Amino acid sequence: MKRGRTLLMIPGPTMCDSEVLRSLSKPTLSHVSSKFIEIFSETLKGLKKVFLTEKGEMFIVAGSGTLAMEMAIVNTCETGDNVLILSNGYFGERFKEICERYQLNVDYIEVKQWGENIHPETVKEKLEKKDYKAVTLTHVDTSTSVSAPVKEIGEIVKDTDAIFIVDGVCATAGEEERMDEWHIDVLFTASQKAIGVPPGLAIIAFSQKALEIYQKRKEPVKSYFMDIGLWKPIMDAYLEGRPAYFATPPVNMIYALHESVKQILKEGMEERFKRHKIIAKAFREALKTLELKIVPVSEEYAASTVTGIYYPQGVTDEEFRKNMVENGVIVAGGLGKLKGKIFRVGHMGTVQPSDILATIAAIENSLIKCGYKVEPGSGLEAAQELFTKHRI
Ligand code: PMP
Repeated sequence: MKRGRTLLMIPGPTMCDSEVLRSLSKPTLSHVSSKFIEIFSETLKGLKKVFLTEKGEMFIVAGSGTLAMEMAIVNTCETGDNVLILSNGYFGERFKEICERYQLNVDYIEVKQWGENIHPETVKEKLEKKDYKAVTLTHVDTSTSVSAPVKEIGEIVKDTDAIFIVDGVCATAGEEERMDEWHIDVLFTASQKAIGVPPGLAIIAFSQKALEIYQKRKEPVKSYFMDIGLWKPIMDAYLEGRPAYFATPPVNMIYALHESVKQILKEGMEERFKRHKIIAKAFREALKTLELKIVPVSEEYAASTVTGIYYPQGVTDEEFRKNMVENGVIVAGGLGKLKGKIFRVGHMGTVQPSDILATIAAIENSLIKCGYKVEPGSGLEAAQELFTKHRI
């Protein structure tokens, strides 16, 4: 029988709630109508609660996570500024490319091997020796599924003049992350990950320290569309209930974000962090039982939003993922230097225990078809045990 639906278990785009999808089809309003102003305003206010910031100022712009990365850099840094980039993988490398494009003076700290983590002491040493305009960190590098010690590094950066820029694209609204408490100055994500909205929106918050740095700039921002000086009056106007225009917002996408933020806050951030943590742990328990190795070298580093898994010997990427599709589950391949060596499962946003259980069943089945020895049901049992323990 032809399957009518598949589970999209990749690390973004993720599966969206049906109400979120339905909201996209509502009639498009004028972007300066009072009804739309109300929706935008509630969305901005709600997002501050998702980012766990009171002082930070929120911007929503049409674009993807890469636009948000570039927006963070281009607004805070000027030609020749020193920037310290902390890299756990593919998206840390992307930060380096962006900064070099803007002729910043880049110091780059990367892990020796993908799967390892950045150590706060290394950052401390570096910051003691040199002044930086900004320190960048990828919270969860989607290529390695390693979660960086954002809180600890935030404690170090806060005592310097540098601002702390955190890429939350694969983390925000899933992985525990607290903008104010962890001293993050620029935090951003994109709609298609743990926020649970289709791709199309860049969501970015600037702290007062970051906004002051913007105010003190000597050179104009090298991009027109990304200049927060042009966006800020618009975001302020929406918050104050006034119409304003700079560039047309993606009206229907804002409906979807509005609906999703409402659902996220209904669940509550602490509950949401907990759900992600337990689902990820249950998945790792299943992987251990199946004797599969994850990319993070220590379980302490493992993210709650995505897991990268090495293929066992003899199992090829193409055959495995083809079997997964036949089992109704789509997972992702590896990125960069892990391409062909690993597969990645995204478990963020609307993900439920039943989704991960169906994924584990499909993994067991596909591995068997690829000739890898598995006791059918053993991974499922390990995950179920954890869910039972946590009563979810
Ligand atoms: N940073 C991280 C951590 C990501 O996972 C991604 C996307 N996978 C990006 C940045 C770039 O986002 P986008 O593909 O939406 O441009």
